[in-house]
Amino acid sequence: MKNNLKPSEFNLITDYLDNQYIIFNTFSGSLIKIGKDLFNEIVDFNNSENKKEDLENISNKLFDLGFLIKKEFDEKSFIKLKNRQWRHNPVIYSIAILPNIDCNFNCKYCFENIEPKYMSEETICNIEKFIENRLKNNLINNLGVSWYGGEPLLSKNIIKRLSKTFKKANNYRATLFTNGFAFDEDFINNIPNYGINLIHITLDGPSEINDKYRYLKNKKNGTYKKIKENIEKITNKYGNKVYFNIRVNLDYENQNYYQKLIEEFKEINKNNISFILHKICKTESGNGSKFCGEISQNDYESILSEGRETLTRNGFKDPLDFLPKNIGFHHCFVGLDNGFTINYNGAIHKCFGDANPSQNIIGYLNSDGEIDYLDEHYYKWVGYDYYDNLQCSNCKLLPICMGGCTHQRLGLTPNAPSICDMEKAIEYVSNIVIQVYELKNSIK
Ligand code: SF4
Ligand code: SF4
Repeated sequence: MKNNLKPSEFNLITDYLDNQYIIFNTFSGSLIKIGKDLFNEIVDFNNSENKKEDLENISNKLFDLGFLIKKEFDEKSFIKLKNRQWRHNPVIYSIAILPNIDCNFNCKYCFENIEPKYMSEETICNIEKFIENRLKNNLINNLGVSWYGGEPLLSKNIIKRLSKTFKKANNYRATLFTNGFAFDEDFINNIPNYGINLIHITLDGPSEINDKYRYLKNKKNGTYKKIKENIEKITNKYGNKVYFNIRVNLDYENQNYYQKLIEEFKEINKNNISFILHKICKTESGNGSKFCGEISQNDYESILSEGRETLTRNGFKDPLDFLPKNIGFHHCFVGLDNGFTINYNGAIHKCFGDANPSQNIIGYLNSDGEIDYLDEHYYKWVGYDYYDNLQCSNCKLLPICMGGCTHQRLGLTPNAPSICDMEKAIEYVSNIVIQVYELKNSIK
């Protein structure tokens, strides 16, 4: 009888010291180091009629870890099917909402030219009707909401009011994108009522740095102390039920301060905080147009690599946490038929990045609580499939990327190419895999 396994198409194979391979499977997430000769022998063995018990045992282990798969299994068609099922599932909703375009901060690199605008009573009612119409007909079984701005905590009453309606949906949860300053006791006490289990906050370093980058509009007060206190209060109250992503925006001036920031958060709760290092880019509008400390891509990648080590050494992460994850057959919420952004004025966009300044509007929420779609932009977004792109369909990184950002692929992102440099992407991920492998071994 022929042996019936073949290598997965998603084995990312990197040459390593002493005639070894490091193989990371982007579909299963498994990582191994294995002798080149042994791996090649197993692949040959599976193409032969031979029976060799030792090879069969190893082969079975590699099957369990996803490095080998059944010969008749078509991984790409499986992913395509799952992607279609997710995208066109009529009961999954993922909605980003901007209750205002206003901010209490005036950050050094902010791209916004803000003329404050708030969601009107009419738009709030239309959102309520939109949800109620669907609840009445059992058309929502999964609702994710992300609160953006501006600064959503300047619209606490809107969050409070709309959450009452959203909570009626099955599987409801919310994410809050905030600068973290304007929490008050009432909001903190109600976090579970608002379904919030993930909060994204930005801190650009310890207080001596953050307060130079992220200050209140009156420039009189720093913001670090209050934001840190708020994170502590929420963590003390809810522990791991509320997770924080702390984004650190870096330029040449503050690039060596994030380590101190990480140190300062060590005692709070390492299990519910992640740090995400970003680089600050020059923008075309707002304060960001005067910004001139942009870190080069090479230097940024070195910082990310050092950052992974710092987070591991400080106990925030296990090295394996840095392996890219299988993202579940879709890149982001805009791929969903029911994935979109509601702007403060009822305009509908796919990507939240298009909401301020408002562009690429795909429709408007009307007074019946329905969306009137606009032909010119709507079809462009909903017609996009990663598998129409040959490069993505044949890419080893597909399970961890799923074609990347649709906004970029559609050519809507200024200064970002619409075509991906696949070889560069593979090299980038391979370098992370090797670092993770070495980091894991160095802390054994
Ligand atoms: S966007 Fe690039 S890295 Fe992602 S799947 Fe497509 S080719 Fe691969
Ligand atoms: S920027 Fe790209 S990845 Fe992010 S939400 Fe918009 S389309 Fe999705």
